[in-house]
Amino acid sequence: MQVIDFIKQSNKLIFSLEIIPPKKGKSIQGIFKTIDLLKEFNPNFINVTHHQQMVVYEEQNGVIKKIPKRKNVGTVGICTAIRHKYHIETVPHIICGGFSKYDTEDALIDLNFLEFKNVFVIRGDPPPGEKDFIPEPNGYKYAYQLVRQIDNLNKGKYLEDLENANPTNFCIGVAGYPEKHIEAPNMAQDLLNLKNKVEQGADYIVTQMCFDVQKYKKYVKKAREIGINVPIIAGIKPFTSKRLLHTLPRDFHISIPDELVKEVRKAKTAKEVRKIGIEYTIQICKDLIDFGVPGIHFYSLGRGKRVRDVVKEIL
Ligand SMILES: Cc1cc2nc3c(=O)[nH]c(=O)nc-3n(C[C@H](O)[C@H](O)[C@H](O)COP(=O)(O)OP(=O)(O)OC[C@H]3O[C@@H](n4cnc5c(N)ncnc54)[C@H](O)[C@@H]3O)c2cc1C
Repeated sequence: MQVIDFIKQSNKLIFSLEIIPPKKGKSIQGIFKTIDLLKEFNPNFINVTHHQQMVVYEEQNGVIKKIPKRKNVGTVGICTAIRHKYHIETVPHIICGGFSKYDTEDALIDLNFLEFKNVFVIRGDPPPGEKDFIPEPNGYKYAYQLVRQIDNLNKGKYLEDLENANPTNFCIGVAGYPEKHIEAPNMAQDLLNLKNKVEQGADYIVTQMCFDVQKYKKYVKKAREIGINVPIIAGIKPFTSKRLLHTLPRDFHISIPDELVKEVRKAKTAKEVRKIGIEYTIQICKDLIDFGVPGIHFYSLGRGKRVRDVVKEIL
């Protein structure tokens, strides 16, 4: 089922999870453990992220060669395993980084064959250890270009003229940033770029993790003012440890509200921090529901127990 249909047809809160593929050499059991903790609450769908592989340059017989080092296990394989085991809809992330438009078309044709109905489209972060995003030759610099390619496939327009080619049927999700994307010069420009992704064919938006309901509300208001009318699902990460006070702003360019910072700093033990963090997360979810959020997307990041602590209080 398409994510957009879950949103349109459900009479209760849509909730979803995001899973990061484990590093190579690890098993899928960690992912199954997270889902086992949450399956009784019937998550509507599960996203599986995709990350650009690291590349190293090595000299071989006097020639410098580019050698890809695959770091994470394959997204599509994990999606398929989850679908078979739990019969839950899965949403693979498709990134621009590392793909030419031809690689992308091949990947999408495979996904269509495997009867995927949803994709989440992002530009992707630069590979580990690199600062700037560099598109592949014949690849894309921005997510909207990839959205356009998928929208074309949905209309039966492949990169080459194919006779009687079937259109695909992907529901497309894209990312939004209530605190602005780090590279955008200002919020107004970032929102215009978001609007462009919607105009190119995106069906809904999922936000970067947000710890401040007022910021989410303001973002939705501004988006509506400029004519972005698709559902905006809120991204939520359960707050679980003191360390997150600096790692989340550093890694995701988001801020933590003062009231949470003060409470967490006062806490004496890790358990106390967790209690404060989970209560805070439950409260923001309740406020979002009161506001009429179309869905809550949990960045579970291997924290199934903590998502469970929140979900059981809000569903
Ligand atoms: C819900 C969610 C899921 C994610 N999943 C993954 C994942 O699986 N793998 C991964 O590697 N990363 C993931 N990310 C991180 C994401 O890849 C990074 O934040 C990335 O830097 C931007 O991706 P985007 O799709 O938002 O990019 P874009 O929409 O392309 O925007 C990137 C920047 O370019 C600007 N921009 C857009 N269009 C134009 C234009 N025409 N001219 C000038 N500037 C423009 C935007 O304002 C923004 O600043 C995710 C983020 C979110 C919020």
